[in-house]
Amino acid sequence: MANDALITQPSCADDYDPNSLPVPAALGRIDTLVEPVTGHERLALRQALGRVLAETVTSPLDVPAHTNSAMDGYAVCSADLPGEGTRELAIIGSAFAGAPFQSQGKPGTTVRIMTGAVLPRGYDTVVMQEHVQRDGERLRIGSGHKPGQNVRQAGEDLARGGVVYRPGQLIRPAQLGVLASLGVNELRVRRRPRVAFFSTGDELRCLGQSLGPGEIYDSNRYTLYGMLARLGVELLDMGVVRDDPQELEMALREASQAADAIITSGGVSVGEADFVKDILDRLGRVDFWKIAMKPGRPLAFGRVGEALFFGLPGNPVSVMVTFYQFVQPALRRMMGQLETREVRVQVPCLSRLKKRPGRTEFQRGVLEQQADGSLVVRSTGQQGSGILSSVSQANCFIVLPEQWGEVAAGTLVEVQPFEGLV
Ligand code: AMP
Ligand code: MG
Repeated sequence: MANDALITQPSCADDYDPNSLPVPAALGRIDTLVEPVTGHERLALRQALGRVLAETVTSPLDVPAHTNSAMDGYAVCSADLPGEGTRELAIIGSAFAGAPFQSQGKPGTTVRIMTGAVLPRGYDTVVMQEHVQRDGERLRIGSGHKPGQNVRQAGEDLARGGVVYRPGQLIRPAQLGVLASLGVNELRVRRRPRVAFFSTGDELRCLGQSLGPGEIYDSNRYTLYGMLARLGVELLDMGVVRDDPQELEMALREASQAADAIITSGGVSVGEADFVKDILDRLGRVDFWKIAMKPGRPLAFGRVGEALFFGLPGNPVSVMVTFYQFVQPALRRMMGQLETREVRVQVPCLSRLKKRPGRTEFQRGVLEQQADGSLVVRSTGQQGSGILSSVSQANCFIVLPEQWGEVAAGTLVEVQPFEGLV
């Protein structure tokens, strides 16, 4: 191997390299190659959970459908609200949710009304029951009330004919609820991308097999399975492929015919890249990147046949980091989602963090709430890219920018939580 080849071969262990690709540049290049999958299907509402809308949904009705009370209290005419002192009104009936008051409200009168009940015609305001004195069929109200208070107007949430969701909307629990409240029971969604994945390495054994000397269990396929399943793509688990050119070529050909995207782990670092590169050159257009990041420095990206290809490093932590940083945004885009990046927050870091300038680091952290309610993060400790327990103890990545050096305790750092709400 020539000297310069040695220098340019990507490896997890290398230090700062001015030729490596910054994380945002890698994201940008991936973004230009990724397109949403074509093809739609119509699904019953519940089946659409986790799927991406392929149509515009307009509201078939006003939500709320009727002007109604936001409180338990009394419906009144705003003209009857006293500017000062008190005012007595005659109670002429009651309105319950699902059992409206049948006649018309008139000045000088009031109707007992429960939360969600239709506001009777003639009234425009609700006075909370805690703010009145009731004496038989007479009601006394004081001053300080505002016309229109405690009333939810018909259509104030959603107006009939208005756009509720546009294509690209991810269907989460809240969207299911909103769509159900509109009476929508079927949705047109984008088909799920099909993702083939396999592990490479002669040292790998499957669960259930016994381990010989130097052999390890294939754990990457399990983390990948978990991450892909949570994302909601269609899975094609192709098992373990030996470090053998023929086997690898066959697996890649099969994957490229069956799937929209291929994810492999292992085989892109020093010494292995050469024969992998040959095969990928023949089957598609794949670049081998050294990314200015830790962990996850070597990454192969491109197309094999028509399928998008991600060759992730073999180290278990690198697999998770590169998946979350590069593969997940790309797959979300393939799924048709418009918003593909996760929320990040700035919090003080309680730990001192070792770091060298020249690469973005994704250290594993524990985000926690202090007694005063404020959020802080601390390191999980050991950050080696083979230490998967550092990810399993963590609930976030601490994202340290390329230029930063060592981080003093108390520094404000950017954190990417693992879990999103709803
Ligand atoms: P590689 O990128 O193939 O050189 O692998 C880097 C390191 O990750 C080596 O220590 C491998 O044994 C380990 N590794 C590779 N693939 C897997 C896997 N599927 N499960 C667990 N460890 C792996
Ligand atoms: Mg390997």
